[in-house]
Amino acid sequence: MSLSEFDIITTYFQKGNKRKDVVLGIGDDCAILRPPSQKNLLISTDTLNIGVHFFEDTSPIDIGFKSVAVSLSDLAAMGGEPAWLLLSLTLPKADPIWLEGFSQGLFSCMQPFNMQLVGGNLTKGPLAVTTQIIGFGQANQIMTRSGAKPKDLIYVTGTLGGGALALAILKNQVDRTVFTPAEIKGLMQHLWRPEPRIQEGQKISPIAHAAIDISDGLLADLDHILTSSQVGATLELDKIPVSSSLEKMKPAQKYDFVLNGGDDYELCFTISRENIPTLKKIMQSIPTHFTCIGEIEAKQGLRVKENGKAKHITKSGYQHF
Ligand code: ADP
Ligand code: MG
Repeated sequence: MSLSEFDIITTYFQKGNKRKDVVLGIGDDCAILRPPSQKNLLISTDTLNIGVHFFEDTSPIDIGFKSVAVSLSDLAAMGGEPAWLLLSLTLPKADPIWLEGFSQGLFSCMQPFNMQLVGGNLTKGPLAVTTQIIGFGQANQIMTRSGAKPKDLIYVTGTLGGGALALAILKNQVDRTVFTPAEIKGLMQHLWRPEPRIQEGQKISPIAHAAIDISDGLLADLDHILTSSQVGATLELDKIPVSSSLEKMKPAQKYDFVLNGGDDYELCFTISRENIPTLKKIMQSIPTHFTCIGEIEAKQGLRVKENGKAKHITKSGYQHF
């Protein structure tokens, strides 16, 4: 039996969390939502395309999970609290097995954040997934890219480079036989099921001067902070926390993945030195590690040091076009 548009919506998408601030969810021309009166809305959208952001053989569960995770990551970067999601899905055909997996991945990523899917769109065409996330932020605590100040310390959450290494393995650009099955599994988890740093973003937002999520590579994304804040920085290469599997790569390739690879979805943020004790307390309350990787400076541009010595590096970053 072929699935109609409405069968698809009711079977695969009319489920998950129910929030009190949703007056009317899926089913009408618009959703009706009641934002909290004291907060600002934070809204962001992202698209994942077949052949670009995932591949013919990527599992539908992974595609579903990641399509929510990338949007949550943008919200995390500003310290937002997730609330609602819209989903625009372009499908080549109505495949129940694919839809079941996709829906499972999508809702499993949304569930812990008490998000509700409140609407979307369905069209026929080459597989593409667009999510739009809507969340809330306290006006005076929302982190932006533009608040970094000279002498601020630069931190990142978690480890970097794993996403790019996973992608290189899938594209046969590195020899996968040097990794154990457990390492490969961990890398694929890192690439397809990134943990959105929502809790971390909310906890640092009262003290962070600037923040961004690392989706296109540390150098490219840190550069957004530097440009928006009209400052420069020195990065200490040897301090950057690296995915353990990357230690098997030659140093040049390792640092290329860490600095220029995308898909890590960690946060990069800056704080003043006075807030180091507060940051340490925050770290004790969550499993994620924060690592100081450099310092903001008044002199514009990015300088890189390795073991205290100046080092020349090339910046490529993920290029969308
Ligand atoms: P319209 O034609 O008025 O735009 P649709 O017939 O496309 O409305 O959609 C009917 C309802 O189902 C709407 O409430 C819409 O938001 C919702 N919807 C459509 N596609 C999706 C989807 N992929 N996920 C969640 N809700 C969806
Ligand atoms: Mg309509």
